[in-house]
Amino acid sequence: MRVLFVGAMAAALWSQQPPAAAPAKPAEELAGDDTNGYTDTPRIPGQRWRVHDVDRPRPPKVTPGAGAGLNTPPPSDAIVLFNGKDLSQWISEARGGKPQAPKWKVENGYVEIVPKTGRLVTKEKFGDCQLHVEWMIPKSAGGTGQSRGNSGVELMRRYEIQVLESNQNLTYADGGAGAIYGVWPPMVNPARPQGEWNAYDIFFQAPRFEGETLVQPAVLTLFFNGVLVQDHKAYLGTTVWRRVGTYRAHAAEEPLSLQDHNQAVRFRNIWIRRLGRSGEN
Ligand code: MG
Repeated sequence: MRVLFVGAMAAALWSQQPPAAAPAKPAEELAGDDTNGYTDTPRIPGQRWRVHDVDRPRPPKVTPGAGAGLNTPPPSDAIVLFNGKDLSQWISEARGGKPQAPKWKVENGYVEIVPKTGRLVTKEKFGDCQLHVEWMIPKSAGGTGQSRGNSGVELMRRYEIQVLESNQNLTYADGGAGAIYGVWPPMVNPARPQGEWNAYDIFFQAPRFEGETLVQPAVLTLFFNGVLVQDHKAYLGTTVWRRVGTYRAHAAEEPLSLQDHNQAVRFRNIWIRRLGRSGEN
């Protein structure tokens, strides 16, 4: 009897054995990192997806019009933040360090991040704004996922629009170029190939606070190489990694910053316009 029982157990176990040689998943379908995404992050409030969700579909690729968005000259009421020659409008802010003169490299009409020297922060402060920024991931940039040409346009130093090599490089949907990082992927992906210039035309509404209470979130509309990729989308708070950001009350105007994520990325032709709201000025 006992022999029969053991035999039955062995047969049952044997029948539960998985197929010996399951085909390996392609690398881009493997879960759990900064290339593919995560399964253990919180849900994004108001959405069905997790932060950096491994299952969230990546935005479809679109080829932008030739030259679209590039070399847009500033209108007369714009403040030119970088004209290809100097960083006189900026200071450098290393993590935990004191503000100092920028160490990023200016050459050939662009400025290139010198990794680990700190982000660039404008001397002036801005709230609601129209902002034009051009950026390029140098051909020499390597790495994968969030480590290939990662930088960011940080409105009010907090609300990031992701910059990343996104023409070939895979990452989670809410982490590619043009994303409200960790919240909203771009509707489509019009990133140009590595080594070519891209352009962001940004329309940003600063959040409104009454005392410490948020009464209106930060809102972004973004054209990426002439293609609308964010249409009046709200930030959930300060941009963070693997978490849901929250708001902390701040001034109506704050500096703009460009992120130093330890990788070389180039910027050029940066200008900004302060926006009034109808009826407010
Ligand atoms: Mg970034």
